[in-house]
Amino acid sequence: MNAYANLTEGAADAPFYLEQGDECALFEAASANNLPVLLKGPTGCGKTRFVAHMAARLGRPLYTVACHDDLSAADLIGRYLLKGGETVWVDGPLTRAVREGAICYLDEVVEARKDVTVVLHPLTDDRRILPIDRTGEELEAAPGFMLVASYNPGYQNILKTLKPSTRQRFVAMEFDFPAPEAEIAVVARESGLDADKVKSLVRLAGKLRALKGQDLEEGVSTRLVVYAATLIAQGMGVERAIEAAMIEPLTDDAEVKRGLLDLVTAVYG
Ligand code: ADP
Repeated sequence: MNAYANLTEGAADAPFYLEQGDECALFEAASANNLPVLLKGPTGCGKTRFVAHMAARLGRPLYTVACHDDLSAADLIGRYLLKGGETVWVDGPLTRAVREGAICYLDEVVEARKDVTVVLHPLTDDRRILPIDRTGEELEAAPGFMLVASYNPGYQNILKTLKPSTRQRFVAMEFDFPAPEAEIAVVARESGLDADKVKSLVRLAGKLRALKGQDLEEGVSTRLVVYAATLIAQGMGVERAIEAAMIEPLTDDAEVKRGLLDLVTAVYG
């Protein structure tokens, strides 16, 4: 039996997540002690899957919000809406999570507008309260409420970074692409492609990631390797699948693309 034979630990119906280190125990300890958690790492390396897995394991509902540059505090908290001629208050996902004692996951939190971080502060200290200015309510978080946020330090620039006053309110965990043996197990499981065939894709992914910071802003994500393997498992030609799933999404520059395709030939040729 290899190290990755027992892939479905935890709650029987929890989404599959292959642990890289002690992140599950750390998350559980944070949850038991009402500590907010910050997940740092490149896109497509398993952060969202990890949160979904942990929410199921802990038996907590999960509200996931994909943050974008137009996302405001009101989108998280809620707003008055017109319904059948009447104005009614509708809770946003953060408010719902606070009321229900759920996990609220703010994916790529640095993308959101500035007023979002202001809302997070009283929720991330021992007050655990959410002031709702529009209704005058001051909600105390129900037991089990947990705030989880993620961000990709790779995209960081001066304008988009988490202020120390915000980041120092979280227990932070660093994520990265799984080590090759683990990534092979993940991709084989997610795509249904034979582990033997996945091996070369993961080797190629390693070579593409080595180009980060030179020709590429970001290395290829595990998500994209899963896509390539899924296309191949569906009967697509290997080179075409790789080009569509692992090369084209990385760059628009014809010259860089040619260089990347040479790497494919080096691995498969
Ligand atoms: P992120 O939130 O970091 O952008 P995701 O959690 O969406 O990335 O991961 C992308 C995909 O990669 C997942 O859908 C899953 O197929 C796969 N994946 C990456 N790491 C793991 C892991 N450790 N266990 C299971 N699946 C993983």
